[in-house]
Amino acid sequence: MLKDPSRRYMPRAEPDPQLWHGTLGGYTNHHCKCDECVAAHRAYCANARAERVASTPWDEIPHGTANGYNNYRCRCEPCKGAMAAARTSWPSAKNRDRRKERSDSMVGMGDG
Ligand SMILES: [Zn+2]
Ligand SMILES: [Zn+2]
Repeated sequence: MLKDPSRRYMPRAEPDPQLWHGTLGGYTNHHCKCDECVAAHRAYCANARAERVASTPWDEIPHGTANGYNNYRCRCEPCKGAMAAARTSWPSAKNRDRRKERSDSMVGMGDG
């Protein structure tokens, strides 16, 4: 049996990807962006945010900021106002998609 030359060198003993795929470590440690790792990271973020929101007293929320609106789910007037202001300053709101108009020139040979 011939050995595959591409497997000759091993920089170090990497953990089996099957072990960390679909875990938070796959996303944060291995920077994997596969569906399972992203889903694990999302679940972690949602959980962490829920815990932070639950453990943060009302007067410690950064009111009047988009941070308070987004991360603390605050819907007080200052937070809503800050979020509205942040939205208008987003570059994505300024950039409109430009459609290129294509002019197709077709040469018909008229061959029935
Ligand atoms: Zn992955
Ligand atoms: Zn607020």
